[in-house]
Amino acid sequence: MHETRKREELVRVCRHLQDRGLVAASDGNVSCRVGSDRMLITPSGRRKGGLEPLDLILCDVNEGTIVAGRGGASSEIRMHLLVYQQRVDVQAVVHAHPPLLTALTLAGIPFAAEILPEVWLSIGQVPTAPYATPGTQQLPAAISPFIKSCQAILMERHGSLTLGSSPEQACMRLEKLEHAAHTLFYCHLLQGKMPRPLSERDLARLDEAHRKASSA
Ligand SMILES: [Zn+2]
Repeated sequence: MHETRKREELVRVCRHLQDRGLVAASDGNVSCRVGSDRMLITPSGRRKGGLEPLDLILCDVNEGTIVAGRGGASSEIRMHLLVYQQRVDVQAVVHAHPPLLTALTLAGIPFAAEILPEVWLSIGQVPTAPYATPGTQQLPAAISPFIKSCQAILMERHGSLTLGSSPEQACMRLEKLEHAAHTLFYCHLLQGKMPRPLSERDLARLDEAHRKASSA
């Protein structure tokens, strides 16, 4: 896809994140690959909902050096670089501060993807990385063990990281998880505890149905 279209898609996703309350003010950062060795990323300190396509920063995906764009790249650029370096299949990364998912990490409650079939099928395991100081090398180090095998990671006391084949897909994965977190929260209110996960048998049936659907 042409760089101009990618800039437009990234900005659309940023507005959506702000409109849905998944980030506040200048929080969060979004990036996508451009060709084999470049990426676009949101600039530092700017309100996500107010970004224009030309505000995005074009960087080298290996070194993180700025190729084009005014101002600095996001302070979490190292986290994005690490994902692209470890996962050639990933085209876009969304880091946000979704309130309920983040609250789960504060309460010390792991996100159990095995509870809701749609989440299990479309995203799979969602681990929580231990707390790390935002904006430092500690953060990519904390998420590093999970990148190769997951499409979504929660970061303790901080927020979420979702990966995708496009900014739109990474954003939809985040929306789906935050929506699921609401469902789990309501269940907890109703019965005073978290719902039980699907059985091993039901999960195996889901995986089998998914395998058949994708090979049909
Ligand atoms: Zn953050």
